[in-house]
Amino acid sequence: MGNHWNQQGIPHKGWSLEDVFDVREDGQEEWETDYETCMMCGNEKIRYVHIVSHPNVADTFRVGCVCAEKMTNDYINPRQREKELRNKTSRRINWSKKEWKRSKHGNWFLQLNDHHLLIYKDKRFNKFKVKIDEIFGKKSFDNLDQAKLAVFNGIEYLKEKGDW
Ligand SMILES: [Zn+2]
Repeated sequence: MGNHWNQQGIPHKGWSLEDVFDVREDGQEEWETDYETCMMCGNEKIRYVHIVSHPNVADTFRVGCVCAEKMTNDYINPRQREKELRNKTSRRINWSKKEWKRSKHGNWFLQLNDHHLLIYKDKRFNKFKVKIDEIFGKKSFDNLDQAKLAVFNGIEYLKEKGDW
């Protein structure tokens, strides 16, 4: 992969930031991680992938933060989004270390300030389901770890909506 900054063809300006994600969002180890390569400069081992689009380019580009800043001419949002992701990843890792208690019915529960979180088993289908306060989750999960992550994502969603 070449370096498009030194070449004509791919526009250097006028891109919009579509999304940012962390290739290590599950807290996996370094050796387990599939890092990406910046499509603009060819820099390897991108952890925070910034997806940018341009009206004259058919495909979106997956680039690192520095290139995303230059391409969008925005030196605030790409970095801000990356920082939010970094915080969210550390919250998720802390979350995975929480010790859930077991009720006498065999459910898992966690009291978080004044919130009651519950994971229970749907015995008919042998799947896990979640409940956050009085809200029953609609999805089912094959294992406990997936259910715990679903509770985390539910709380993040409620926080974003200002309902937490
Ligand atoms: Zn780059």
